[in-house]
Amino acid sequence: MVVQKFGGTSVADPDAVRRLIEIARAARARDGQGPVLVVSALSGVTDALLAIAAEAGASHTDAALAQTARLRERHRAMARALAADGALPPLCAHIDAHFDELDAVVRALGVLREVSPRTLDVMAAMGELLSSRIVAAALVHAGLPGEWVDARRALVTNDDHTRAAPLMRETTAALRATVTPLVEAGGVPVLGGFVGATADGHTTTLGRGGSDYSGAVVGAGVGAHEIQIWTDVDGMLSADPRIIPRPRLVPRLSYAEAAELAYFGAKVLHPSTIHPAVECNIPVRILNSRRPEGAGTLITAEPNPDGDELTAMAAKRDLTVVDITSSRMLMAYGFLRRVFEVFERFRTSVDVVTTSEVSVSVTVDDRRQLESIVEALSEFAAVAVEGDMALLCAVGDRLRAEPEIAARVVRVLEEVPLRMISQAASRRNITVILRQADLPHAMHRLHEEFFT
Ligand code: ADP
Ligand code: ASP
Ligand code: MG
Repeated sequence: MVVQKFGGTSVADPDAVRRLIEIARAARARDGQGPVLVVSALSGVTDALLAIAAEAGASHTDAALAQTARLRERHRAMARALAADGALPPLCAHIDAHFDELDAVVRALGVLREVSPRTLDVMAAMGELLSSRIVAAALVHAGLPGEWVDARRALVTNDDHTRAAPLMRETTAALRATVTPLVEAGGVPVLGGFVGATADGHTTTLGRGGSDYSGAVVGAGVGAHEIQIWTDVDGMLSADPRIIPRPRLVPRLSYAEAAELAYFGAKVLHPSTIHPAVECNIPVRILNSRRPEGAGTLITAEPNPDGDELTAMAAKRDLTVVDITSSRMLMAYGFLRRVFEVFERFRTSVDVVTTSEVSVSVTVDDRRQLESIVEALSEFAAVAVEGDMALLCAVGDRLRAEPEIAARVVRVLEEVPLRMISQAASRRNITVILRQADLPHAMHRLHEEFFT
């Protein structure tokens, strides 16, 4: 049986859901059971819910309520288009119950003027709770035994609200109690992605783009033979299609390559997606829901024996470089520990690190604690901060054994001022930090050299 995760554009409107149904039907015909479906919110809905939370927290109650009214109508229209007549009243009652609750939260926030991470999760989770109910009803209307599963009863997470981590042991037990029996009874379970709950029942979310992660967690928990990520592109592409107009499809990737690409900005996969798959050695396939006949990208443990010099590249924008220079002439031992303790204390992760005799440079993408970090570092080092930076990362298993590939990457970028260059222990990627304004040009140069 396979687990199929459908992203926001793959459930955006009634036609998209009809395509989803045919994809699920084909999987069921092939496997004789399942599939298990994990769906995102209708496209744009999570953004809208977070915008509503911000408006509500600023006491713009009327503006927020006008937005909830529009969202309510969009979900009702989806239900009317997809559910059987008899199933419509209970489905609309569920939709209304969610929106009545949302409106009550909006009014309360107008008074409290503060949106806690816990409240934000209750609001953000509604997108997936609603879309999954609608998809389950649509399946039934189309003759498939869709069964809605409340993701809050299936994914048990820690209480790190807005970026919660699933607890795998508890989640596996919960999935075996909620999802597995439905599959065994011949059903097609449908869960909202992105959403879970703590052991004591508080709703959580896994961070933006987290439905991929849910799909992989569910796949590992129910012992699927494949985890499929259905999206709006043909698979993992050689570069971000929003920057490079005609990137190539990457037919095969190793887990390690996929994890690095996702971590360094390839939005098509949430960075945590690969881990549960690796644990259970389950293949992951990325597929296009508008062109289901395509082969997509297959991700497995083995490196691709016919892989190109580079497999793909990824980029991250809006990074800040922090240069930290020891106030003694040399880096006394203990200096790096003190530096990283500061980042740990302010719960800010660093992406790329380079060092010299007296200084260390790091990049961060979360600026929320930056001021406090600089203040703390300044107690024992000179600190300089530079914003508007970007990261460009070339990934490929062949980089490990063929050092001339990395040399060529740097040579191709010779006319671009590079702020940092790094190749970490995995040696599967070479990463450069450059000014954000130089990123598109640098990506085009690299893509031309290695992918066309
Ligand atoms: P979904 O809603 O299906 O999860 P996302 O928008 O999260 O879809 O991810 C798919 C998008 O990721 C694509 O539309 C594409 O613009 C973007 N993307 C960025 N880098 C890559 C890449 N290397 N390969 C494929 N897609 C990429
Ligand atoms: N709906 C969530 C988001 O937009 C999760 C996801 O789609 O993966 O971030
Ligand atoms: Mg996504």
